[in-house]
Amino acid sequence: MSVQVVAAKMAEVELKDVPSKELTPESPLTPKTDDKGIVENESNAVVTSSTTLTTEPTVKAGDPSPGFPTPNPIKMPQASAMKRIDPQQNGGEAFVNRDGTVAEAPRLKKIQFADQKQEFNKRPTKIGRRSLSRSISQSSTDSYSSAASYTDSSDDETSPRDKQQKNSKGNGDFCIKNIKQAEFGRREIEIAEQEMPALMALRKRAQGEKPLAGAKVVGCTHITAQTAVLMETLSALGAQCRWAACNIYSTQNEVAAALAEGGFSVFAWKGESEDDFWWCIDRCVNLEGWQPNMILDDGGDLTHWIYKKYPNMFKKIKGIVEESVTGVHRLYQLSKAGKLCVPAMNVNDSVTKQKFDNLYCCRESILDGLKRTTDVMFGGKQVVVCGYGEVGKGCCAALKAMGSIVYVTEIDPICALQACMDGFRLVKLNEVIRQVDIVITCTGNKNVVVREYLDRMKNGCIVCNMGHSNTEIDVASLRTPELTWERVRSQVDHVIWPDGKRIVLLAEGRLLNLSCSTVPTFVLSITATTQALALIELYNAPEGRYKQDVYLLPKKMDEYVASLHLPTFDAHLTELSDEQAKYLGLNKNGPFKPNYYRY
Ligand code: NAD
Repeated sequence: MSVQVVAAKMAEVELKDVPSKELTPESPLTPKTDDKGIVENESNAVVTSSTTLTTEPTVKAGDPSPGFPTPNPIKMPQASAMKRIDPQQNGGEAFVNRDGTVAEAPRLKKIQFADQKQEFNKRPTKIGRRSLSRSISQSSTDSYSSAASYTDSSDDETSPRDKQQKNSKGNGDFCIKNIKQAEFGRREIEIAEQEMPALMALRKRAQGEKPLAGAKVVGCTHITAQTAVLMETLSALGAQCRWAACNIYSTQNEVAAALAEGGFSVFAWKGESEDDFWWCIDRCVNLEGWQPNMILDDGGDLTHWIYKKYPNMFKKIKGIVEESVTGVHRLYQLSKAGKLCVPAMNVNDSVTKQKFDNLYCCRESILDGLKRTTDVMFGGKQVVVCGYGEVGKGCCAALKAMGSIVYVTEIDPICALQACMDGFRLVKLNEVIRQVDIVITCTGNKNVVVREYLDRMKNGCIVCNMGHSNTEIDVASLRTPELTWERVRSQVDHVIWPDGKRIVLLAEGRLLNLSCSTVPTFVLSITATTQALALIELYNAPEGRYKQDVYLLPKKMDEYVASLHLPTFDAHLTELSDEQAKYLGLNKNGPFKPNYYRY
């Protein structure tokens, strides 16, 4: 049985419910499959905004060894009935100004590029470095745990930029903290490989084909063991990679060392200054005789650096794969302004990201983040979770399972009703703020917990945020003369009122799990596999399949990513019989749900 990859153009498509009767085998919405597993190109396919395309990987469903998309455009006129709007349009974080510069929404600061502020060669002082980091984009300062790095030697104060390092093969095209940590990093990578089965399966497959042969991928993501597994997979698939960190704190130095030792051009270390941050990105793209043709970005900083400094590079770039809410929003803004000059894949809104990363990642990491920072016992504690979206649902489920008494706040009656039906008390924050032991925000909104609520919290109340940016808790309102701040542990502050009451503020209101715990590798595997397939799809797509627009990953690709992870669980997927497939109006090989299905 073959798996088809359907590339649905979603950027400007509204999610109108398409009647299920349209999904008959004869319907143009139903993708065509080839049971032989390989579909030839249809060279005369027309790609318009009302057209959906399919590609066909040479793989059998349920077969852990994956295939790679072979272009096979199929006309799907009904796709025009599906308008996909920018998911962040009501809560977005970035805007494109008339002059084409990208600015964050009023609640965030405008992104500043190093060329607007200073030259690379002027090395900032330590104090300068710290203050500069405030103007860095949000995504680059949401930090991962210090616990994620096991071999940091804090006594080495020399900037990596001042060091001349070479790997054992004499290659020095990298800039990292300490190449000598490579062995430790290799162990970290090997541990991550155990929990990233789909990428390992892609590699096996790559022994035969190299779908990324000739690809020159420039990446800007968290540099962790999981990213290393992704990079080494891309390399096994034929790509050359140059990489920088999307976050000044999140690099695992030993992993960066292992990558450099393995021949990757990595420019990243934990604790970069803003100047270092942009310098590293620049070193990735600005190289004599090497030009990227694919971008893998997390947060949009790399993309915008290239837009700003090397716009001509886009002539050779085949596409952008973007992972984050912020970066995707910037791409939609560029697209709206007619300034997006290559196709882009929005990985953030793919089902395999939203339904796994947001829900399951948070379900597991909320307890870890709270426990590591506070040693709190959850049983019997009263917790209020603000927002019952994917992240909120994950947090509530975990806390409930630990015996906490969980309250939920919501603005949306549908999510509110879901909370009620799941057995949570729906309240307004002011009704419970005096009695709760823990407050968790996960709304993606701003000023959810304001000073008035902070004033009314009881002594010892723990306050933290699981949403994307540090705007949910009004931390700035706590920086007043009458309140005393006491740093009690890394990422843990006690804010003390004049009467002695103290609240426990975690990670200064930034993402708790990324700041204070690690996140499950298996979930990252799902996202990383989606990124790899998006790169393969964009790189191999025939001219014209994708326009200069933002695309959602096709459902068929999401299903494929999921199927690659099933063998880990020894899960046995039921196959539709011919009769059942006909009855449901489905292709036996998927996609199994219409695009409007919500899971
Ligand atoms: P979502 O849109 O599914 O859920 C957010 C919910 O908050 C919505 O139901 C919305 O109605 C509700 N809400 C908005 N304003 C509110 C308010 N003032 N009071 C109460 N409820 C309010 O989004 P999501 O997928 O759950 O993500 C939430 C945030 O978490 C986003 O910022 C996202 O980027 C971030 N995120 C974090 C992680 C992580 O690992 N911590 C992972 C994925 C996403």
